[in-house]
Amino acid sequence: MQILVVEDDESVAAGVLEGLGRAGFGASHVGTGGRALDVVRADSPDFVLLDLGLPDMDGTDVCRAIRALTAIPIIVVSARDEEIDRVLALELGADDYLVKPFGMRELIARIRAVARRSDERLPDGRPGTDPSRNIGGLSIDQRSRRVVLDGAEVYLTAKEFELLYFLAAEPGAVFERREILRAVWDGDWYGTTKTVDAHIAGIRKKLGDPRWIEAVRGVGFRLGVPG
Ligand code: CA
Repeated sequence: MQILVVEDDESVAAGVLEGLGRAGFGASHVGTGGRALDVVRADSPDFVLLDLGLPDMDGTDVCRAIRALTAIPIIVVSARDEEIDRVLALELGADDYLVKPFGMRELIARIRAVARRSDERLPDGRPGTDPSRNIGGLSIDQRSRRVVLDGAEVYLTAKEFELLYFLAAEPGAVFERREILRAVWDGDWYGTTKTVDAHIAGIRKKLGDPRWIEAVRGVGFRLGVPG
């Protein structure tokens, strides 16, 4: 796994890179948001560790911009006084967050947990599994985490991607909100089923036709092909 470390403090970056290397991860480092976006575009890293306090761009904008490009896992890192919390991190499209100062052991555990969660939901590259799901003109590729509709790429957030991929497992089948929450957000999600509705609305908007995801009154949602 190749991890991109976005951190402007050279001494913090050096320690993190060393720790990641010792834990068996490949890692590269950039010190600005602009460089981070270049590397995400050019090299497709597998994972991003993103410090929010960067010299050239607001880290929350960098997080959103990475999320607009790709659905790869992101852990955001912030200093204690930046008041990042789990809600804000999730709103930014991040998968987890850490407050500085943090220990390498904690960082590695978080990276493994986030990677494991995304693997469980999306069984990447397991023999015998097809990583892409196709329905009508919609193609959802789990390996590259890209969604293409009628030849044009659709940019989803990590959760939107996972939700769509989940529904696409069985087009036409109705999935209950609780079932979706459990599969896409883990059992310990603190929110309500309204979260599911908000993400469905986001996906519909991006797909350009609400009929892609049909609400079944009192039950849940199903994926369908418009027309
Ligand atoms: Ca910083």
